Amino acid sequence: MTASIRTRFAPSPTGALHLGNARTAILNWLFARHHGGAFVLRLEDTDTERGVPGGERIIYEALDWLGLQPDEGPREGGPFGPYRQLARETMHRTRAAELLASGRAFRCYCRPDELEARRKAAIAAGEPTGRDARCRDLAAERARRYEAEGRTAAIRLRVASGPVAFEDRLKGTLSIDGDDLGDMVLVRGDGRPTYNFAVAVDDLEMEISHVIRGVGHLSNTPKQVLLYRAFGVTPPEFVHIPTVLAPGGGKLSKRDGAAGVLDYRDRGFHPDAVLNYLSLLSWSAADGEEFLTREALVARTDLDRVGAADSEVDEEKMTWLSGQHLRAEPAERLARRWAERLDVEGLGLTDADLRRAAEVFAKRTKLFGDASSEVEPIFRTPELDGAASREALSAPAAATAITRARASWEEMAWRPEPLARALRGAMRESGVPGRSFFPPIRVALTGQLHGPDLGEVAYALGRERTLARLAATQFPTPQDTTDEQEEDL
Ligand code: GLU
Repeated sequence: MTASIRTRFAPSPTGALHLGNARTAILNWLFARHHGGAFVLRLEDTDTERGVPGGERIIYEALDWLGLQPDEGPREGGPFGPYRQLARETMHRTRAAELLASGRAFRCYCRPDELEARRKAAIAAGEPTGRDARCRDLAAERARRYEAEGRTAAIRLRVASGPVAFEDRLKGTLSIDGDDLGDMVLVRGDGRPTYNFAVAVDDLEMEISHVIRGVGHLSNTPKQVLLYRAFGVTPPEFVHIPTVLAPGGGKLSKRDGAAGVLDYRDRGFHPDAVLNYLSLLSWSAADGEEFLTREALVARTDLDRVGAADSEVDEEKMTWLSGQHLRAEPAERLARRWAERLDVEGLGLTDADLRRAAEVFAKRTKLFGDASSEVEPIFRTPELDGAASREALSAPAAATAITRARASWEEMAWRPEPLARALRGAMRESGVPGRSFFPPIRVALTGQLHGPDLGEVAYALGRERTLARLAATQFPTPQDTTDEQEEDL
């Protein structure tokens, strides 16, 4: 397809970007990228009461974290600006005037309280309420009188009776009767455009080709479709996607700690995992593949595979995916992320230390913060005076094991597999069984009895630190051990 594919994400700046909205942004971004089109950010900030201070910044922070760079938007600018809806009001009013001029819209002088009173009366009389348009064909004389009374006019669309049919890519053809829509208001008496009018005009002006949004907006669609027709243009393609539910079902709410996409950032999830997870939340790759990089997601995006069912957030799966993405991260980059979370100074960690650790220990982590439990203990100066360490180091073979480990590693190229191989060779040559040979070495290096492969531990620690720790190992005298045992008794 061509560069004429233009999608948009149109959030209201009302606070945290929850996972459902993030998924909408993701699908729009993926679809645009897949087709080499443009992804537009339009801020729907007309409801000033619901807007929160910093709302726009929060949205950008979430999009930036997920790596969804808009091609056009309030920050980026672009040929179809402004990209904040409130700043487009003049444009909306101009478009409404166009519909007045073409006779597709009319001025309505009824005050809201009058309309409401008549609506109630119709309900009481058991009559339809959809159609109350006594100003539809107002004589010019009458209109002048209203204006002389000081009434202001709303602008309403002439909506014919009969079906308003429209297409949704996932739901097929849908239809509603024009009488149920009524002659909808486009611009209120005070000059403010209504929500649906602003959205349709903006999508039209911004030449949006695909409107991909939550299924909650389905009921707005026939109103927007009517507006496109009134302007004599073909509507965009509509794709209404199912809802993202909170873990365990129910609506995602801002009170829910896991609702905002940035909560996942703060909890240490890899952004690509959240992107991957939300992308596949309602569509699956044809081959059932679950771990997909950004590039693979862009390549495989297929709106026709989006299912109809709402889906619950499954944090376990998202965590697993985060582990997969951490593993795929270049060591250099992961090292930088770990550096933000570890006591680099206290542990004396250099960039090279962190990079080596990232190379071998990424696979042991799922969240960025896991470095605290998986990496930090290895680098901490081992404490050798605990009972278990003393036992390992006072075993008869301890000194042999440590001497042989040093000798086998001293001249080695410092890579994890050769280090592990050399150590196994040293063990075999020593005649000491593995269960007696390895524990003292592990204790000398880390102060622990269990942990990752020793070749990886040595590699991460680096040549100097490893050999120094082996050289500095003190072996408790049998006397010390006896004391300890006596204390224990
Ligand atoms: N501003 C609307 C929202 O935040 C989106 C409107 C649309 O996508 O058409 O839900």
